[in-house]
Amino acid sequence: MGDELRALTVAPGIGNSARLEDVSEPDPVDGAVLVRTVALGVCRTDQEIISGEYGAAPPGERRLILGHESLGRVETAPPESGLVPGDLVVGIVRRPDPVPCCACAVGEWDMCRNGRYTERGIKERHGYGAEHFRIEPEFVIKLDPAPIRTGCGASSPGGCHSTEGARRWSSGPATSRRSSSSPNS
Ligand SMILES: [Zn+2]
Ligand SMILES: [Zn+2]
Repeated sequence: MGDELRALTVAPGIGNSARLEDVSEPDPVDGAVLVRTVALGVCRTDQEIISGEYGAAPPGERRLILGHESLGRVETAPPESGLVPGDLVVGIVRRPDPVPCCACAVGEWDMCRNGRYTERGIKERHGYGAEHFRIEPEFVIKLDPAPIRTGCGASSPGGCHSTEGARRWSSGPATSRRSSSSPNS
C-alpha cells in the first residue's frame, strides 16, 4: 500500500466532472478500521451527483470521493472492534448531526430533524469509492463470510450494482440494528 490510491471523485454542483484520480490514503479521522474495497454499488443518487444536481464536498474541499454503497474486506481494525482482517463488511452511509436532534440522539439518524446530518459519498463526507477507505467500527456492518460473487446488474436505469452484496446486506439486519443504535459509543 503506497501513499496514494485511486478514487472516483466529482466536483459537486458541476455536471460531468467525475473522474478517476489519485488521492491521499484515507485520513485516520474517518475511522480506525481500514477496508480494501471489493465492489461499489452505483444508484440514481450517484447519477444525480455526477450530473451536478446533488451532493456536497467536505467543508473546505472542492471534490468529493463518490460511493455510498460499499462492499469491502477489513485490512486492519482495533482489537476491541470485534473485526479482524478479511472480514467482509459494508459501511453505513449516514452520520448523525452534531447537535444532535432528538432522532439522531437515539441512533435514528435516517429520521434526522435538522438536516445537518452528513453522508459518505453524498453530503460533506468522502465516500467509499476508493481502493481503500476508513470507517468507524460502530458504522461497520459485518457480513456473511462465504465467498462472494459480484456482478453488474441491469435492473435499473441507475446502472451497475453488486447484486450479491445487496442480498447479503439484507441478510444482516441484526448487526445493522445493533450498530445503528449506538452512534455515540
Ligand atoms: Zn444509493
Ligand atoms: Zn439529526
